[in-house]
Amino acid sequence: MITRYVKIPLRAATLYLSPADFLHSMGTNSPRKSGSSHRKPRLARALAPAPDFSSIRAVLFDIDDTLFPSSEFSRLARRNAIRAMIQAGLHATPTNAERTLARIVSNKGSNFGGHFDLLARKFPSSNRDRVVAAGVAAYHNTKSSISPYPDTARLLLSLRERGYLLAAASEGVSLKQWDKLIRLGLDPFFHHVFVTSNNEGGKTPSDGGKTPAFYKKIARALNLAPNQILMVGDNPAKDIASASAAGMLTVRVLTGKHAREPARADITLRSLALLGKRLAKRAAK
Ligand SMILES: [Mg+2]
Repeated sequence: MITRYVKIPLRAATLYLSPADFLHSMGTNSPRKSGSSHRKPRLARALAPAPDFSSIRAVLFDIDDTLFPSSEFSRLARRNAIRAMIQAGLHATPTNAERTLARIVSNKGSNFGGHFDLLARKFPSSNRDRVVAAGVAAYHNTKSSISPYPDTARLLLSLRERGYLLAAASEGVSLKQWDKLIRLGLDPFFHHVFVTSNNEGGKTPSDGGKTPAFYKKIARALNLAPNQILMVGDNPAKDIASASAAGMLTVRVLTGKHAREPARADITLRSLALLGKRLAKRAAK
């Protein structure tokens, strides 16, 4: 144990802190203050006992921007839809239509079913039904081409072979999240799929999102202690902070629209494909 404490400052630099936290703790991205009382909590965190990865029995995965580049596909699908709508007679420029659609999506939410209908109402056209149908078809054609990040299937297979229980832990409309897993060809890898939503006939609490309660509920469903579960995701608040508050270990992937936001995860990875090796290394410690 003594040896472990001696080594802690080095391990803190390379293992415990995210790159942003590490730079901050070293004073390289913040004004240096004498006495640096603001740095004490970070030092305390660095001196905290190492997370025990050897106890991990289950790995949870977020879906969007973790298993596949969801934001990129959404952008591409909407752009293709607009192109098709203009071709079908919508009198708009692509730029104006994109801006208008972005406003509609922001106001109505991404799971609203009438984005293209509302868009078609904002600009003149000779046949609105034709325009909307063209947009919907182009959107779905693009969506059918979604594929996972490189080596995702290989990673999931290897984790299963190593005996981990695998689950998807996602937020949104359950049917849509299942649709994504099936289109990605990844659904057979998961033992369980948990979606926080209130569209499951009252079977799940309508907690509105990935709160610590959602993760605690998953731990109970898996019959595991939270510290036996690893949550992997891209969203600093929903995937990392919430799961960590529930007592789980966390892996943050720097993918998607949240990649530049700060987060305090146990492991931070540039790509999901690196998880297998990192987990093996950590579990061996
Ligand atoms: Mg996500």
